[in-house]
Amino acid sequence: MFSGVLKKMTSIHDDPVRYILDFDNDLLFLNQVIGKKIKFHKTGYCCLSCFENLQIFANGFCKKCFFESPLSGEWVMKPELSKAHLKIEDRDISYEKKVQLQNHIVYLSKTSGIKVGVTRSNNMTTRWIDQGAIEAVVLIEVPNRYLAGIAEVKLKDKFSDKTNWRKMLTSNIDEADIKNEKKIAIDSLGSEFQDYFKNDSKVLKFNYQIDKLIDSVKSISLKKSDDVEGKLIGIKGQYLIFDDSSVFNVRSNEGYVVDISISD
Ligand SMILES: [Zn+2]
Repeated sequence: MFSGVLKKMTSIHDDPVRYILDFDNDLLFLNQVIGKKIKFHKTGYCCLSCFENLQIFANGFCKKCFFESPLSGEWVMKPELSKAHLKIEDRDISYEKKVQLQNHIVYLSKTSGIKVGVTRSNNMTTRWIDQGAIEAVVLIEVPNRYLAGIAEVKLKDKFSDKTNWRKMLTSNIDEADIKNEKKIAIDSLGSEFQDYFKNDSKVLKFNYQIDKLIDSVKSISLKKSDDVEGKLIGIKGQYLIFDDSSVFNVRSNEGYVVDISISD
């Protein structure tokens, strides 16, 4: 039995991608659980910011922390709202400087279709695995989050910034050639971003361990139910895929305290 606060799965870019649930005193290597039954039983909450046993509101935070913690400022989801480069505080300027004023990339990834996104340079592989990308390529690298956000906004005319998770999990994936799409994206960015182009970046590929393909999905969560269980048949993105076509997004269930049991 494993017990602890649920946080997003840690991943290793191997072939296939390997996933780990990292608890304080224990590691659960999830690829080894594929083919077995796994059960999550909710025993409480632990907000990822204040660590109190308060109902989770969103993203692993209680309601107060979601609206007040520097970790969940609006610039997290909308990088173009970043203001640390102007020395303007949103919620905590020292935290915002630390996170925003470092190298970021703008990338294309193939999840369901081709999407555009932003992440810190030192986080890109993790980001791509978390979204279930099968291919990804860097477009530009810039010195702060704001510039990356501006470039992303410019590309949203041509590229989605969302993953269709149902298509991603049913492997109903567009055939588009990511190298061609990169050329289109670089042209769209234009001379304004010329100094930041990563022309030599290679396409990274990701392979996920899925024993059986499913053609429809239904989402299950600890918000709706105290127990989530099923026979695990694969893992992709932050999703555990069960043989009855239900899927469990580990990241969306962050902050729940759980007991986990595994059986044949
Ligand atoms: Zn809290």
